Amino acid sequence: MPTSTVEVNAREYRLPTRPTVAITVDGCDPAYLDDALDRDLMPRLAAMLAGGGAKHLGRGQMPSFTNTNNLSIVTGAAPNVHGLPGNHFLDPSGEEVQLSDPAFLRGHSLHAALRAAGARVLCVTAKDKLRRLLGHGDVPATSAEAAHRHPIPALGVDDVVALVGRPNPGPYRWDMSHYALEIGLAVSRASGPLDLLYVSTTDYVQHAEEPGGPMADRFFRRFDDLLGEYLDLGYVVGLTADHGMNAKHHPDGTPRVHYLEDALAAAGVNDARVVLPITDPYVVHHGALGSFAWVHCPDRQRDRARDALAALPGVEEVFTREEAAIVYAHPPDRIGDLSVAADAATALGKSAAKHDISVLSGPLRSHGGRHEQIVPIAISHPLSPRYAARHAAGVANSDLHDLLLNGLA
Ligand SMILES: [Zn+2]
Repeated sequence: MPTSTVEVNAREYRLPTRPTVAITVDGCDPAYLDDALDRDLMPRLAAMLAGGGAKHLGRGQMPSFTNTNNLSIVTGAAPNVHGLPGNHFLDPSGEEVQLSDPAFLRGHSLHAALRAAGARVLCVTAKDKLRRLLGHGDVPATSAEAAHRHPIPALGVDDVVALVGRPNPGPYRWDMSHYALEIGLAVSRASGPLDLLYVSTTDYVQHAEEPGGPMADRFFRRFDDLLGEYLDLGYVVGLTADHGMNAKHHPDGTPRVHYLEDALAAAGVNDARVVLPITDPYVVHHGALGSFAWVHCPDRQRDRARDALAALPGVEEVFTREEAAIVYAHPPDRIGDLSVAADAATALGKSAAKHDISVLSGPLRSHGGRHEQIVPIAISHPLSPRYAARHAAGVANSDLHDLLLNGLA
């Protein structure tokens, strides 16, 4: 008899009995969906919610960055389990490296476990930086950004771009996210809906515009069309975000930022090294400025550094490595001696000399702190009473697959 459940990172999941897709809308602050629903820009989402679905606020992981949260969503686990407390970290060798290599992963994804159990699974990401992480454990994975280079042989797709029927857009185009959704739809139409599909978008639009901006409106209108196509194919849909997004600039448009190495030097801490785990290859989005930073410094300077950072207006939290491991559920060997989080309106940088803010495409909107930890979590179909109550009370984005696979009524 085939098994009906799999255990993934100490949690049990039922095998999907109907086609299921989890969609992570990168940088989708809850305000985007609320605003779009208020102005009737998303009729399919509205009908989904009126017809038995539900949408509530939930919480992401800290820091509120992309890789950390995407991995929590696909593993159902906190960063101390999957091993990625950022997009980027300070390697023990003293080198800063991107956390995009699957060798850094410590936990398995649901998709890897379900594939091993015989399910048809697929992960599609907009930005290629996530593709190898999501593909860990022999999971078929491709990206919109590099669709022309990454066929999906396990599903019989040797040319993703031909299957979608239009060329893949670049990362600074408003519709690269939609292309990722179109890949999932094209594969589903060619060979039948997947048992479990994961689609992760990119937040170029959300970094650029607040809710109601012309490009944001275009983004969510088109997103709603594609959501409707998934529902029409018979998918159970779960929708969440990796993090929210807030404006972090002065009225004149310049970034509101504390450069921590400069602030520490002014306080007499000269040997500190600041690492910004938001750092990724996509500089136009955010210029590596978010609301979370690590400080590496000698033990003898730690207390002084902590006091100096905590005194900065807009800095909300400063935790030691041991504290952060508990409070944020972080792997202690991959974080700084101090973890620093700023408020909704404040970003953190290394030093003024180390950031070229001219690369920013507009006034800084970014994420990384507690205020961008609040995300929407929507499910297309009715949940059991127990799961519905849990959903309404506020779950984590890492619980999305628990709702989808274990919670349907
Ligand atoms: Zn993101």
